[in-house]
Parts: sequence; structure tokens; C-alpha cells
Amino acid sequence: RAKAAGRGTLIVFEQGMDMVVQDQHALEIDLRRALQRGEFELHYQPFINIASGLVCGFEALVRWRHPQQGLIPPDRFIPLAEETGIIVPLGAWVLERACADAVTWPVEMRLAVNLSPVQLRHCGIVETVGGALRASGLLATRLELEVTETVMLAGADSRKSLQAIGAMGVSIVLDDFGTGYASLSYLAEMPFSKIKIDRGFVADLPTHHTSRAIVSAITNLASALHMEITAEGVETEEQLMILKAAGCTHAQGYYFARPRPIGDIEMPRQAKKV
Ligand code: C2E
Ligand code: MG
Ligand code: MG
Ligand code: MG
Repeated sequence: RAKAAGRGTLIVFEQGMDMVVQDQHALEIDLRRALQRGEFELHYQPFINIASGLVCGFEALVRWRHPQQGLIPPDRFIPLAEETGIIVPLGAWVLERACADAVTWPVEMRLAVNLSPVQLRHCGIVETVGGALRASGLLATRLELEVTETVMLAGADSRKSLQAIGAMGVSIVLDDFGTGYASLSYLAEMPFSKIKIDRGFVADLPTHHTSRAIVSAITNLASALHMEITAEGVETEEQLMILKAAGCTHAQGYYFARPRPIGDIEMPRQAKKV
């Protein structure tokens, strides 16, 4: 097809491909050095109890402050970090850094950290989580680890690790719910205490009747299984009102706050209502 488009097109196409490959390779070399150079940083986004309007905690979201390219979002380097295995030391750093930050917050504030399936498959993960808690002094019950539906398709070792981490008192959260392939029966088998509805459904809420039906169904299921439910990517008051009416208890999104570096966050001082 490239040939049919003519010689000029073919050359442009080849140069383009070459640049993509080079770009990716350069990024990989940079990624290997980035940890030692301290180029990663964490931004924090609050999640909110819809009924009280109070902040329950913050999700740590990693960014890479690249010396030439500026701030790089996780979607551009996490897949590469997973392919190369760099996610294992990077993920350990995220856990340690986030726990050390969170221990300075009011005790009602919880900390959520994302965990890659590659990290979970790594044999040292239970010790890494335990080590980050011990080193920081953060109570295990204040920590939530977010995993996606792919972990349910992962092997028995990953599931055992999740069970062991859960047994330490850490909450396991199912992230991006509704986007994967996992069967619903896994929900009851795994030690999830919370489900996060993917922001794709939330974005469609005001216009798509089917999204409302799906959100209502997820919310009913979660409450029947005694799980908390958080809606991700809430950007408007209209979305929030629909979520509230559907029985969703918690929310997170730009409507409340964007992810921010720790120094830019005004930590809520009021205690969580009980
Ligand atoms: P996630 O865990 O589902 O995180 C939510 C993403 O949605 C974040 O993107 C957040 O900035 C974005 N977001 C929050 N509110 C809104 C909103 O109202 N509208 C829109 N459009 N987006 C919103 P971010 O920070 O770019 O992270 C993307 C993904 O990268 C995360 O999705 C998570 O899967 C992964 N990630 C981030 N940090 C880490 C980490 O430390 N370790 C691992 N393994 N993965 C991470
Ligand atoms: Mg998450
Ligand atoms: Mg998510
Ligand atoms: Mg996501």
C-alpha cells in the first residue's frame, strides 16, 4: 500500500517509523537512569465522600520530569517500564515515597497507590509493600493498592500475593472497572474492598442512557458485595448529581481537584465525619 502511494510517501513513511523506534529506544535508556537521577515525582489527587463532601484520601500518580522533554505523563512510560522490568524498582520507589508523604497527613486521610500486574507477579511484592509501611510508619489500614482487572486473569502467585497484602490490613481496590475482560464471579473471589468505575462511563453519563444503567448496576453489585464505590474522572456537577442518584458513594476528578505536587496541596484539616 505504501508503494502504491508513490515513492515520496514511502520515504516519509520509513523516516517516520525510524524516528518512532529511535525515540522509544532513547526513552528506554533515559528511563533506566531516571530513577538514580531522581527524575520521578508524585502528584496527588483527592477522592471525596459524595454525601459529606469531605476528602477521604489521595491517590499518588507518578510523573517523570524529563530533563529535555519536561513532565511526561505515566501513560507514556509505564508500558515501557513494564516491558523492561523497570516498573519493579520504580514501583517500589513510588510506594516508599508515597507512604513517607502520607504519614505526615491527618490520620483520617487514606493513601491510594497504583500497582502494575508486572509488580504483582514479581516475587518480592509482599515484602516491598511491608517494607514501605515499616520504613514510613504508615498504618497498613491507611493504604489502598489499586489493581486493574488484568490481575484477575493473572496466575495463582499474583492472587496469593494480593491475599497476603490484604491480610496485612491493606485495602485492595479494583481500578478502571468495566474496561477489562474479567468475569463478575472473580469479584467475590478476590479480596477487593472498593471498586473504581472507569472514567469512560462517567464521561458518557449525561448523554448515554446505557452508561447510567451500567453505573447503577455496578453500584448495586458493589453494595451487595459490601464494597465501596468510587467514580473516576468526574468533571462536572451534572455527572456528580447523576452518580449520587445512582447510589455512588465516592468520587474523584477534575471537578474537585487535579493531581498536584505535595507542596501545592492544602491538606484538609477537618476530621472526617463519622
Ligand atoms: P488511574 O489509576 O486510573 O488514574 C486516574 C487517571 O485519570 C490519572 O491519570 C488522573 O490524572 C486522571 N484523571 C483524574 N481525574 C480526571 C478527570 O476528571 N478527567 C480526566 N480526563 N482525567 C482525570 P494519570 O495521572 O495520567 O495516570 C494514568 C494512569 O497511569 C493511571 O490511571 C494508572 O493506571 C497509571 N499510573 C499512574 N501512576 C502510577 C504508578 O505509580 N504506578 C503504576 N503502576 N501505574 C501508575
Ligand atoms: Mg488508579
Ligand atoms: Mg482508574
Ligand atoms: Mg487508568
